[in-house]
Amino acid sequence: LKEEVLKILKKGRPGFVSGEEICQKLNVTRAAVWKHIQSLREDGYLIEARPRAGYILRSVPDRLYPWEIADGLDTAVLGREIYYYPSLTSTNDVAKDLARSGSGEGTLIVAEEQTGGKGRLGRFWHSPPRLGLLFSLILRPAVEPRVVAQVTMVAAVALACAIKETSGLTCGIKWPNDLLAGGRKLGGILTELSAEVDRVSFLVLGAGINVNQSEGDFPPSISATATSLKIETGRRVDRVELLKASLREMERWYNTWLTGGFAPVLARWKELCVSLNRPVAVHSPLGVTQGWAEDVDEDGALVLRTAGGEIKKFVSGEVSLRS
Ligand code: ATP
Repeated sequence: LKEEVLKILKKGRPGFVSGEEICQKLNVTRAAVWKHIQSLREDGYLIEARPRAGYILRSVPDRLYPWEIADGLDTAVLGREIYYYPSLTSTNDVAKDLARSGSGEGTLIVAEEQTGGKGRLGRFWHSPPRLGLLFSLILRPAVEPRVVAQVTMVAAVALACAIKETSGLTCGIKWPNDLLAGGRKLGGILTELSAEVDRVSFLVLGAGINVNQSEGDFPPSISATATSLKIETGRRVDRVELLKASLREMERWYNTWLTGGFAPVLARWKELCVSLNRPVAVHSPLGVTQGWAEDVDEDGALVLRTAGGEIKKFVSGEVSLRS
């Protein structure tokens, strides 16, 4: 009912809605309406009450509430079931638990803050309250485990599209999982897998995007290498709108991948990639290899040509861009 009251107030904007009208529409008492208005205020909605005029919604809080995400969301599967946390250790960890206990494809786990945000290889992901977009999706594609690296690339393309739509910023992709802007890290994607030998049981796709951080919001260890949409565009970005666009684009590119294969995704990925056709250093368990980033193959592996002309392929590793 609280969500229904909110819908009526939103529809009534920029005008007042009388208490009587809300009572009639929802078939509840005035006291009940008042209770829900109070509860919305506690959630951070600024609602003014004026004698004889009624209620007016003055502002919506900067929160990723499930009902705000669901409002106007035009996906068929992704984000249709939402778990929202003001704070948790890591959205990927909660997503894995939910997936193990049977949560379905498209389940979304979203948090305002992570206290143990993770990057690849157990590295940290700085996730302060309400500044970034932090979410995980449970996916259950009927594919073999070996193609799973492609899903990270599906997500990178989708997030780059969503960022462009919502903020106007064109960001670049650095193989395998980084979103960059102005040479600094804007976001990352962490895909985790549960599989048998020949079949994926579930995938958890985690995304962290720096949205409204200012320079001073990053810890000193990453302040020179991290950036946010606000730093790049000079404007705050609505995190709910960015999340909705991310779900829409993710569903579009995920379906393209499921039905049309990796080729169309890879083609777009290459257009957005900033770590190809240039000298790079690849840090992998085998050490550091320098060379020319020549291509990414049909499995998503990085193809490097060394100074001696030898071709080496990397399925995992970390790329640093040398000038
Ligand atoms: P990199 O590409 O930076 O070498 P990686 O790809 O191996 O790292 P990721 O999972 O992409 O690892 O990200 C983790 C790293 O990103 C951390 O070690 C830290 O240096 C940096 N980092 C942590 N939080 C943030 C953040 N919010 N924004 C930008 N960079 C971050």
